[in-house]
Order: sequence, then structure tokens, then C-alpha cells
Amino acid sequence: MPRRTKIVATLGPASNDRKTLAAMIDAGLDVVRMNFSHGTLAEHRRRVALVRSLARKAGRAVGVLVDLQGPKIRIGRFRDGKITLSPGQKFVLDAECELGDAHTVGLDYRNLPNDVRPGDTLLLDDGRIVLGVSSVRGPRITCVVEVGGALSNNKGINRKGGGLTAPALTEKDMQDIRVAAELKADFLGVSFPRSGADIRRARDLLYKAGGASLIVAKIERAEAISALEEILEASDCIMVARGDLAVEVGDAVVPALQKRMIRLARERNKLAITATQMMESMVSSPIPTRAEVSDVANAVLDGTDAVMLSAETATGEYPVEVVTAMARVCVEAEKGDTVSVERRRGGPPSELEEAVARATVFTANTLNIKAVAAMTQSGKTVLLMSRMQTNVPIYAMSSVVETRRRVTLFRGVYPVKFRGVRNPEKALNMAEDELLDRGVVQRGDYIILTIGEPFGKAGGTNTMKIVKVGEHRHA
Ligand code: PGA
Ligand code: MN
Repeated sequence: MPRRTKIVATLGPASNDRKTLAAMIDAGLDVVRMNFSHGTLAEHRRRVALVRSLARKAGRAVGVLVDLQGPKIRIGRFRDGKITLSPGQKFVLDAECELGDAHTVGLDYRNLPNDVRPGDTLLLDDGRIVLGVSSVRGPRITCVVEVGGALSNNKGINRKGGGLTAPALTEKDMQDIRVAAELKADFLGVSFPRSGADIRRARDLLYKAGGASLIVAKIERAEAISALEEILEASDCIMVARGDLAVEVGDAVVPALQKRMIRLARERNKLAITATQMMESMVSSPIPTRAEVSDVANAVLDGTDAVMLSAETATGEYPVEVVTAMARVCVEAEKGDTVSVERRRGGPPSELEEAVARATVFTANTLNIKAVAAMTQSGKTVLLMSRMQTNVPIYAMSSVVETRRRVTLFRGVYPVKFRGVRNPEKALNMAEDELLDRGVVQRGDYIILTIGEPFGKAGGTNTMKIVKVGEHRHA
């Protein structure tokens, strides 16, 4: 039984080279994430080309997720690069300060003084430093250090409870959306969206630039939680972006939110990625902690489509081992999979594909079916199938390379390269051969084939067929 949960890994200095990346793909990497907070256009181009060529060599589809930087809500720089803050001391954030020192630092995000009030709590560097705001005068925010420590250049700032007005798409993001279109990115990550409108704006820009990526809304602001329904509606996928989210809403709130977000996504036929610190200790250790193993397993049991690696593969010492460890934990957790999905919204199926998808999964779960072979142009029917609980693998057979690359993120769905053929009989033979080759089925096993009839014409899947492998060839 192949692993159903997909693995997304962030590229970085630790994983940019041909050898490491090839080994990561070999270990089961499904989607690479390119963090557009770092790197030049030339580097992005080179990396995408490398990923695609290694995937081709391995005979696998590997998706590419371009993750936009989003608004930089950050402090400025220090004269000496870093300072140390002690609890109880006064510290000033000043939008007009150029170079910081032990008492004052500037702001990349110049609008911050307009967004905060006395009594607010500001969290710096992912919450490691906690500042209480005592007064705001003009460009100056005077704070008292509540939790101190080392603070270095350009660290991020969050306001507890959210409420910063920075727009989700910066000038750089808008340019990077054009880059994503040019690179034919399979997925586009929008950082810090506050509303459905933020996502629609990104999609508009992407489509205008000729792109077709699926849009991933990173849920990492307090506002995004209240706007979750409309953000889900506007996007194709959400990311449970636990790093920033935990800082804004409090770490203890995140696990329950994760469960709710994943459930809502599945109910609305959307995808979900669970991200950040999943195997953080493996940045410098060859094995994960017990808690990390449980965290990855729990995300699988929550029904996530994919689990994501960040620093572990971008800068860590064990980029290949961590993919292997994650794959191993997912496979084991899937044996306890009980995610029920019969709570989906929208009443009775309104679309043909939905009806065929439901019938297929119901039948696969009821009879002894070894695999589903879905002939698909757009991947829509397999998305619908993968929103329902099943242990039966779904093979997305497509002649469209973009479709094969986007299903890399769908739980329980496997891309298969499929030559366009004219008649359904030939297609069935090819599907059977492919599944036999992969060792998924043997002669005499039952599979379900889904196709759109009349065959070869554009249009949705409307046919589901139960087939005994090999049988029809003797007829
Ligand atoms: P980031 O997003 O890694 O781009 O910050 C993920 C998160 O905040 O969890
Ligand atoms: Mn983030």
C-alpha cells in the first residue's frame, strides 16, 4: 500500500544540490516549496529546472510550490547586528530610526505605530521576545521588555491577537506572481492573507500573467481564522501555517484549530497542508523526538493532504533522513486512519463528477477493489474522490503534465503518465498494464475505471466501470 499523505519540503542551502535533491525525491518527496523570502530570480529558475529534470529522471511527478514572501512585518537592523534585551527594561521601536542600538530599533514595517496601542503585546522573532506597549507617540512605540533575550537584525514582529493592517500582497509579491506564472509553478502560496479578497487578488494577477497554479492560502494571522470560510471559498488549498499562527493566537490554540481547518477544507473539496516545526529537532539530529513523531502522525489522522518540512530540509543537517522519517511515520499512522468525510457540505451531489466520485469511493470501500484508475484531464474528479475516506489507491491517469504535477498534493492520489488514446478499450488495457507493472494489482483483481464518455472529447467524468483485471482481453 503506497503512502497516502504527501510530503512537501522547503529547498534551501542544505538541499539545492543535485545529489541531495535526487536523494530526497528518492526518499519520497512529493512537492518542493521554494520560499520566495530568499533567493534571486536566477536561483529560482535554476532550482525549478533542476527539480523538473531530476523528477523526469526518476520517472516521477514532483510539484513545485512557490511561496510568496508576503508583507515583511519586521524590525530594522542593529549597528552591531544584534543586542540583548533584559526583562523590565525600556525598549523603543521607532519607524524613523535608521540603525538600532541597545535602546531603540527601526522598523521595516513603518506603519506599525498606527496599528498598536498602549497595553498591546508585541512578539518578536516568532514569539521568543515579548514586549508590552506602554505608549505610542508619532513614529515611536515605547515598550517594556516582558521576555528578553538576544535580538538580531530584521526579526519578525507579530501583534498578539492580530490587527496589523499590512496588505497581504506587496510590490515584490506582485512581481513574484509573474515569476510563478513564468515558472509554471503548480502551487502558489499566499502569505498572511486576511480575507477572501486577498486570495482573489492573487489569483487575478496570476491568471493575467498566464499562470494556472492552485492557490494555497497560508492561515497565519488571527484575522484569517475569523475569515476562514471566505478564504477557503476563494482558494484551492489552505496551509496550517503554525509558525506565525501560534504567535498571533497563542500556541495552545493551534492544535484544535488545525483539526478544524483540515476538516473544513475537506468538506469544501479543498486541500490542506500542515506546516512548521513538524520535525524541527532533525535540523541537527538524525532522529525525530517522540513528540514530533506524534505530531506528524496526528496531522495524518486529522486528514491533512500533506505534511511540510521547512528548516529541516532548507538548512538542516539531515535533509534526506528527515524525508525518510516523515514517510515512515505517515505510512504507519495511515493504518489507523478513521477520517470520516460524510459530512460534506452542499447537500446532494449537484455535479456529475461529484456523483461519479462518490459512487466510485463508495463502491471501492464496499467491494474488494484494489485500485481506482481515473482517466482525468483536469484532476477534478480525483480531487473529489480524495476528499472521501478510502484506503483504495487512486491513480490519476493523465496525458496533461500540469495535472499530474498538481495531484502530487492530493492525499491518496498518484499521478500516472498516460498517452492519449482514442478508444476506451485501449485505455483500459493501458491502465491495467500500468497497475500490473507497479505491482498494485494481479490478474483477476477488481479495479474501478472512471472515464468521460464519449472518449477523447473534452468534458467531465461520467462513467464508472468495475473491471476484473485481464478478463476483458479474452472476450
Ligand atoms: P513561513 O510560513 O515559513 O513562510 O513563515 C509558515 C508558518 O508561518 O508556519
Ligand atoms: Mn509564516
